[in-house]
Amino acid sequence: DTTHGAILYLEDIVVSFDGFKAINNLNLDISVGELRCIIGPNGAGKTTMMDVITGKTRPTSGTAFFGQTMDLTRMSEVDIAHAGIGRKFQRPTVFEQHSVFENLELAMKMDKRVKTTLFARLNSEQKDKIAAILQLIRLDGQEQRQAGLLSHGQKQWLEIGMLLIQEPQLILLDEPVAGMSDAETARTAELLNELRGKHSIMVVEHDMGFVTEIAQQGKVTVLHEGSVLADGTMAQVQADERVIEVYLGR
Ligand code: ADP
Repeated sequence: DTTHGAILYLEDIVVSFDGFKAINNLNLDISVGELRCIIGPNGAGKTTMMDVITGKTRPTSGTAFFGQTMDLTRMSEVDIAHAGIGRKFQRPTVFEQHSVFENLELAMKMDKRVKTTLFARLNSEQKDKIAAILQLIRLDGQEQRQAGLLSHGQKQWLEIGMLLIQEPQLILLDEPVAGMSDAETARTAELLNELRGKHSIMVVEHDMGFVTEIAQQGKVTVLHEGSVLADGTMAQVQADERVIEVYLGR
């Protein structure tokens, strides 16, 4: 067993675009229940890595194991999503015309594992599940509000809730706090810290204050030129000469 019990195990991934290696021998694994932060300068390969994990981009070589047995590099984007990898893109994409509650209800009903139809009434277990998510994403008491009227940060939380309700085994978040106020950023850090241990999450983020908040108990991986430059605690990577060099551009 080469996957060490990881939920995700990337092995020697290479992605070439016309000979240019956007990903160059990337090795990375995420444990079950881990909250992993991925940082790195622009062009480091963060987006391309997430595209490989979600099947949007096929690597030139290498393998990507999910949950021990599934090789993501041989699966379609749709099959990967159904297998339990949920991705949240940078911009929120909620159903603006619908209420907060309806957004969560729709997300629940779109979950392939749930045997229901769009117009079926929710049972009490499903209602409880939505209530728990509303509390987690700091939108309890706001469930009847139209999603389009929420603040940018609230929309991001709602979308995280829509992901969580489908119980993905691995969640990928692309710059979740971009454009958020300081207060919203702090609450997002709290929210993610509450998810630690319960969900396996990979967060790509530029906001170092935020990364410091959520990396207190976890690991940070620094990507540079398509491979891992350093990983460890935030304190370790911040003190790493190679990381400082890359960020300061010396
Ligand atoms: P990041 O998300 O860390 O900013 P990206 O994964 O977007 O980095 O990009 C990594 C490198 O690969 C960059 O140099 C970028 O220009 C290049 N790249 C990304 N996608 C393509 C593509 N479709 N064709 C050619 N080059 C690409």
